[in-house]
Amino acid sequence: MNSKYLVINGGSSSLKFSLYEMPEEKVLISGLFERIGIDNSSYTIKLNGEKIKKEVTLNNHEEAVKILTEELLNYKIVNSLDEIKGVGHRVVHGGDKFKESTLINDEVISTIRNLFHLAPLHNPANLMGIEAFKEFIPDAKEVAIFDTGFPASMPMENYTYAIPYEWTEKYGARKYGFHGISHEYVTEFMKKELNKENVNLITCHLGNGSSMFSIKDSKAFDTSLGFSTNSGLIMGTRSGDVDTLMVQYLMKETGLSFDEIINVLNKESGLLGVSGVSSDSRDIEEGMKNGNARCILAQALFVNRIVGYIAKLWIGLDHVDAITFAGGIGENSPVTRKQIIEKLKPLEIELDEEANNVRGKFTLITKESSKIPCYIVPTDEEVMIARDTYNLVK
Ligand code: ADP
Repeated sequence: MNSKYLVINGGSSSLKFSLYEMPEEKVLISGLFERIGIDNSSYTIKLNGEKIKKEVTLNNHEEAVKILTEELLNYKIVNSLDEIKGVGHRVVHGGDKFKESTLINDEVISTIRNLFHLAPLHNPANLMGIEAFKEFIPDAKEVAIFDTGFPASMPMENYTYAIPYEWTEKYGARKYGFHGISHEYVTEFMKKELNKENVNLITCHLGNGSSMFSIKDSKAFDTSLGFSTNSGLIMGTRSGDVDTLMVQYLMKETGLSFDEIINVLNKESGLLGVSGVSSDSRDIEEGMKNGNARCILAQALFVNRIVGYIAKLWIGLDHVDAITFAGGIGENSPVTRKQIIEKLKPLEIELDEEANNVRGKFTLITKESSKIPCYIVPTDEEVMIARDTYNLVK
């Protein structure tokens, strides 16, 4: 029997939703509540190809969820809320406690709460969403899908930092890896595409936030990400890897506090910080066309860091079945993909320029003679959440 499942991605001031009919994976309605708890809040609904925006006061997540349930009834997407069998929540941090998606009960809630210190911006927001749905759709089962879930299979030698071992054990100071839902989606997609149960991949998710994983036998093996989401690759506004002692040096030189420096590394660095123009790769590409030296530099750093991680991740695998590109930049920027792949010549990877000249669709973008094939794989985190929710609830 068909049933309906909500997919929720809650931020501290936003709540993104999609309602799926499962197992067909058909999106019935989707939308976004913005500026929750701030002035000028609003929500947008996407229905039958139309976008409807409404300005409304949203003091907290409960108010957003209440309006969402009312709109589902108003637009007759459901006749009664009990048609919604499950609500799947993206939860950013599962620590080392959750290796897989899980049905939410009081114990799970308390564990998510106990992990607040690892993700102080994200987990509290995720929990607000979970509690609001418990109130407004009490009959639906709730499921948590963790961004750290898929990466949790990484072996110890790949997640341990070379710090006193007690810190790793006692404080959980280790690599976790995030973006797991996207990398898992791509892995599942490639398993079908290559018709292999056990695939070895290097998956690149390049967007505003960027990350890479090596996948060994269809499981996360190593990553560019680390303890926090500001590690590894250069991102829109995040620095990615920097030398930790430079923080202390910059505090002395600039007079900024520790928190202020960290804020700059998170919000004013990356493509934005280097280019001085924008965090958006389209603006960087425009700047490059106009010969803007700082945009050219920002792009070179971005590309070089990715190529460096491809080499590092590749060396950890016995063989690589494919390299994949997803995320806003990975899916839509032929220029960036070309620059990356051209630097992979030492690995005997050969770009097919014509095939690469596409946006947003599954495509093989290397020549047949290429030692490792590269693909664009548009990611879909929502459907991954819907699948896990359906499978756990049905
Ligand atoms: P987030 O990490 O916030 O989910 P996205 O995956 O949506 O981010 O990626 C946003 C990035 O994708 C931006 O840098 C944007 O410029 C880039 N992007 C989107 N469309 C294009 C395009 N057509 N060409 C180049 N870059 C693009």
